Amino acid sequence: MTITGKAAVAGVMGWPVSHSRSPRLHGFWLEAYGIDGAYVPMAVAPENLEAALRGMAALGMKGCNVTLPHKETTLGLADAADETARRIGAANTVVVREDGSLAVSNTDAFGFIENLEARAPGWPSGRPVLLLGAGGASRAVIVALLDAGVPQVRIANRTLERAQALADAFGSAVQPVAWEERAAALDGAGLLVNGTQLGMAGQPPLEMPLDALAGDGVVYDLVYVPLQTELLKAAAARRLRCVDGLGMLLHQARPGFAAWFGREPEVTGALYAYLAEGL
Ligand code: NAP
Repeated sequence: MTITGKAAVAGVMGWPVSHSRSPRLHGFWLEAYGIDGAYVPMAVAPENLEAALRGMAALGMKGCNVTLPHKETTLGLADAADETARRIGAANTVVVREDGSLAVSNTDAFGFIENLEARAPGWPSGRPVLLLGAGGASRAVIVALLDAGVPQVRIANRTLERAQALADAFGSAVQPVAWEERAAALDGAGLLVNGTQLGMAGQPPLEMPLDALAGDGVVYDLVYVPLQTELLKAAAARRLRCVDGLGMLLHQARPGFAAWFGREPEVTGALYAYLAEGL
């Protein structure tokens, strides 16, 4: 769509940023809703992040997403942060307020749970969850799961100390598990989440036997390149319900779009197919 001199402008800051699918995603919504707006990629080196964030007010921009490696630093630079961003320890969405100050939030937990509810309605939320990985994405997953009321999150991580640190931070509902014990830790669980980059294109495969997961269990892979990971293929072969990571990316974008462009966007099959192209 052609934009005018009144166009609302937002974007994504990352370093690098060329891999980001957010411009394609927001561009789809802007086009679909006929909004006079633009969402642009912004390659911002870490040493320029503060100037770039502050510069948005001077440029009259509405705000931005931040991606790696800027998520933690942006939280520290913000004038205001929502509780979820503080609990996760990172921000991914920045809104420039009327007075030029920066309000940040983290919508990854929202994206995670919205995608889960959409893809596996009635997922076994009353049972423990096994989460693989203890990085930034896993922090958002833990917040989402605890807020959804799951009784226990078991975290298996290659570096056990990082899983222990999450248990220390989030309390007794979070239990560290040695990486070698991950298969056994599925016993009694209703949901398995892969929050590592294992299974991603160019990364080592994820070895995760699914034998101990009950037949009504759900398998959720945060990896979305490829869209159908080996983990999800193995789960589908067992007739387990599967949730891929692309939907989380789409849902996490909704609050930012609404704040910058003034319309609640929808995650539709057409959007999903458009973003899935080439994955
Ligand atoms: P991160 O902070 O770098 O954490 C990486 C995690 O993977 C750590 O737990 C790390 O274990 C583990 N890991 C890496 N290599 C491993 C190996 N060879 N064996 C076992 N464990 C290994 O990354 P992140 O930001 O949390 O992202 C994790 C994944 O989630 C990525 O695939 C990312 O693309 C995906 N993600 C998806 C979405 C979405 O919207 N779908 C959003 C965010 C992230 P150690 O602690 O031992 O190093």
